[in-house]
Amino acid sequence: MTNIIYQSTRSSDITATASQAVLQGLAPDGGLYVPREIPVYTGSLERLAQQTYQETALEIMSLFLTDYTTQELKHCIDSAYDDKFDIPQITRLKEADGAWYLELFHGATIAFKDMALSILPHLMTTAAKKNHVTDEIVILTATSGDTGKAAMAGFADVPGTKIIVFYPKGGVSAVQEKQMLTQRGANVHVVGIKGNFDDAQSAVKRIFSDAAMKERMAQGGMRFSSANSINIGRLVPQIVYYFYAYGQMLKAGEVKPGDPINITVPTGNFGNILAAYYAKRMGLPCAKLICASNENRVLVDFFRKGVYDRRRDFLLTSSPSMDILISSNLERLVFQAAGEDCDVTGAFMKQLSEEGFYEITDKMKEELTDFYSDYSSEAQTSEEIRTLYEKAGYVIDTHTAVASNVYRRYRDNTQDQTKCVIASTASPYKFLRSVMCAIRPECADMSDFELIDELHALSGVAVPQAIEDIRTAPQLHNTVVEVDEMSEESARWLGI
Ligand SMILES: *Cc1c(COP(=O)(O)O)cnc(C)c1O
Repeated sequence: MTNIIYQSTRSSDITATASQAVLQGLAPDGGLYVPREIPVYTGSLERLAQQTYQETALEIMSLFLTDYTTQELKHCIDSAYDDKFDIPQITRLKEADGAWYLELFHGATIAFKDMALSILPHLMTTAAKKNHVTDEIVILTATSGDTGKAAMAGFADVPGTKIIVFYPKGGVSAVQEKQMLTQRGANVHVVGIKGNFDDAQSAVKRIFSDAAMKERMAQGGMRFSSANSINIGRLVPQIVYYFYAYGQMLKAGEVKPGDPINITVPTGNFGNILAAYYAKRMGLPCAKLICASNENRVLVDFFRKGVYDRRRDFLLTSSPSMDILISSNLERLVFQAAGEDCDVTGAFMKQLSEEGFYEITDKMKEELTDFYSDYSSEAQTSEEIRTLYEKAGYVIDTHTAVASNVYRRYRDNTQDQTKCVIASTASPYKFLRSVMCAIRPECADMSDFELIDELHALSGVAVPQAIEDIRTAPQLHNTVVEVDEMSEESARWLGI
């Protein structure tokens, strides 16, 4: 098997093994680690249909994380994908109104982030052992609502780690906030910030590259790492479920081996859809990658015009986990489209941070023709939830509804009959109020707990454990700081 080396998107001299890249998160020059070559899937598609999720995970992850032994990977996979998930198959496809919804929300925090964040702590502690790192690993994470809880659930009480999560106060759903503020674990700290997700994410990146802070950390026997989707330890596990989904489509007789599928992904930081892009590059039969945005439609403009421009108002929508104007992982796609040219990629990212925009060349645009992109307005998203429920009796969350609506209009406009897998990224229980108001506007005055029962009655879907938990859990966190206090707040809590 080829040994895969990772390098920064901004400098080909900065390289790392897979386990080093997992440990570091971000490359030291602020770039993102990318595999020097994208491995090819040479396994049999027919076999995918017969494999368990764990078997497919081992097959795909071994191709990328080449300095982990099979034993190590197996251990990580078995520790992650167990009965923390409420279905034994970990994820499943659900057909509704001519599309296949890939339910990625059966983990502990009922959002797709669990798919990767349940395994990341294991990949990271294994990496520390392999690289003889004895420092305590401090995870610093900015969240638009779902990463924070899923990361804390993954890292809570994992020996040798601490985790600090920053979320935009007022920019997440009531359930998301409650889930975070009730998180147990002596090694977790949750902080609300007076700013939006982009403010939090940019500040975290600054703290990572702050030399003085790094020195203070080292003296305290600690080092930072990232649980955000910039970490390849997040990205690689996300590739797995696209292969698994294809296997399930085969098994159900919806496709024959080699038939292409389309994939639609509700997109924020561009991590989930990037994983689909890697799957395609590896050889998964896939035609279009449909990138769905909410009203923060910065990616739609990028794919249509080739201009990435974050100079616009940040809108708060009913799909808060996609309220993002700086989609970090797009840097990896830009790097590929630029013919893996670090100078070009670095220059665009510099321009983005200094001037707020960049424009790719026509040649780069041609590299992106696999992508189709559109957005769903708040009214369309709400309408989508109601119509799908009325047509198929299936209730989806607001993020999934963004994707579902974009796909529906894509199919109507293009008449493309290729079967489509839609990444269903959260349980409707997580975005309860918006979902219930879409289906039954008269529910607007109900309390959250009444809404839970109402959704249960209407969908017939059992109330997830994650929701039962917050009904009674005490609030354990209440820190709120300004954006420019994030660094000091971290140092204070870490005692350095
Ligand atoms: C994080 C998240 C997204 C966006 O995923 P990205 O990988 O950031 O593009 C979409 N839906 C939900 C529910 C999420 O939690």
